[in-house]
Amino acid sequence: MSTVRQQTIDEACELQGVGLHTGENTRVRFLPAPVNTGVCFRRVDLEGSPEIAAVVGNVVATDRGTTLGIGAERIHTVEHVLASVASLEIDNLIIEVDAQEVPAADGSARPFVELLSSAGVGEQDAPARVFKLDEAFSLEDGASSFVVAPAEEYRVSATIDFDHPLVGRQFASFTITSDSFARYLAPARTFGFIHEVEALRQRGRALGGSVDNAVVLTEEGLLEGTQLRFPDEFVRHKALDVVGDLALTGMRLHTHVVAERPSHRANVALARELVARAERKALTRPPLDIQQILQYLPHRYPFLLVDRVIEYEEGRRIVGLKNVTINEPFFMGHFPDHPIMPGVLIIEAMAQVGGLLLMDAVENPEEKLVYFMSLNNVKWRRPVIPGDQILFELEMLQVRGRTCKMRGVGTVDGQVVAEADMMARYVDR
Ligand SMILES: [Zn+2]
Repeated sequence: MSTVRQQTIDEACELQGVGLHTGENTRVRFLPAPVNTGVCFRRVDLEGSPEIAAVVGNVVATDRGTTLGIGAERIHTVEHVLASVASLEIDNLIIEVDAQEVPAADGSARPFVELLSSAGVGEQDAPARVFKLDEAFSLEDGASSFVVAPAEEYRVSATIDFDHPLVGRQFASFTITSDSFARYLAPARTFGFIHEVEALRQRGRALGGSVDNAVVLTEEGLLEGTQLRFPDEFVRHKALDVVGDLALTGMRLHTHVVAERPSHRANVALARELVARAERKALTRPPLDIQQILQYLPHRYPFLLVDRVIEYEEGRRIVGLKNVTINEPFFMGHFPDHPIMPGVLIIEAMAQVGGLLLMDAVENPEEKLVYFMSLNNVKWRRPVIPGDQILFELEMLQVRGRTCKMRGVGTVDGQVVAEADMMARYVDR
C-alpha cells in the first residue's frame, strides 16, 4: 500500500508584483496547511476572506489563463503558481492573495518555485492521492489533443505549432520532478503576439503585461529588449501550463501526458477526465480479503470482527463487512434464547474497519497498533441477529500527527444499526 505522503511547506513565505491583467500591485502569501486541505486560494482583500479551492470544479474561465471562481469571487491566472506547487509535490497549501490575480512575476514559474523551495517542503502524516492509469486513453478538445499513458513517474511531452518564424513546430518532453521542473520548465515565460497584446489592452486586459513578464513576438521576431531563455522556450512554457492546469486534479499524477497543441481549455477538460477516472477507480478498487486483513490487524479469532473490505478510498473512506452467524462465540452467552450481537462488539467491529483505514495511512503498519481514544455520539438503532450482514462505512474526518477522527455508520439491509464518532491513535508495537 501507499507510502507516498502528503506534503506542505515548512513556513509561510510571500512575493509581490504586478498582476498581468489588472496591472495592479498584488501580493501572494503561501501558508502551510493541515493534511487533506488541498491547495486553496484565499482572497484576503475581500470581507470574510473567501476561499476558492484549486480544483477543476471551480474553473470558470480559460481565456488566456485559467480563472477560478465561486459566486462572484475570482482568482485569475492561477496556472504558473499551481505548476510550481505541483512540481514540488505540495498537496496542502493556503495561497492568500490581496487582489483578483496573483503577481505575474517574470511571466514564468521560477520565482514561485524558488520561493516555495526555500520555505522548505515537508511530509505529513497522511497518504498522498496518487493517480495511476491502467491503460492509455486519448482526449480531443478543439485543435488540442492528448494521449495519456501509464507511467511510473509524471512526464509531460508537448508539441506546439505556431505560424511564426521563431516558433514553428516545437516538441519537448520532460519528467516532472522538482529538480527537472525547476531547471527545464520553470524559467520558461509566457508569450504573446504584439497585435494580440494591443487588442487585449483595448479591452482593458494585459494592462500589466510588458517585456518584463512576457516574451512579446512581433511579426518577424522578438520585441526589442527580449531575449529567449531557451530556443524552445515556447513549448516549454506550454508544458508548464499543462502541469499547472492538471494540478487542478488535486492528485499526484504518475502518468505520461502527451499533449498536441495544448490550451488552457483543453488542459482543464483533461483535468476533468482524470478526476472522473480517479473517482471511478476508487469505486472499483480491489477489495481486501481476510488474508490481507490479517496482515494489517493484530486481532485474531474470536476477536477479529471484519470479514472483508469491499470499498476503499485511500486515507479517506472504507467499507468493510461482517457476516454475523449463530456460531459467533458471543451468542453462547449473550442471551442464548434470544441471540443478539452485543452493542459494544458492533462498535468494536466498526473500530476494526476504521483501524484498517488508519493503518493504510502509516508506514510499516506491521510495526504499529491502533488504540481508540474516544467515542462520541454512539447510537444503536436496532439489534443485530444471526444471519445479518453488517456493512460498516467509515469516513476519515481529520488526521493530525498520529491521531485521527473518523465517523462510522453500520447498516444491515440499508438500515442503520449503529453509528459513532471515533478518535484513534497509532503507536509503535
Ligand atoms: Zn502560462
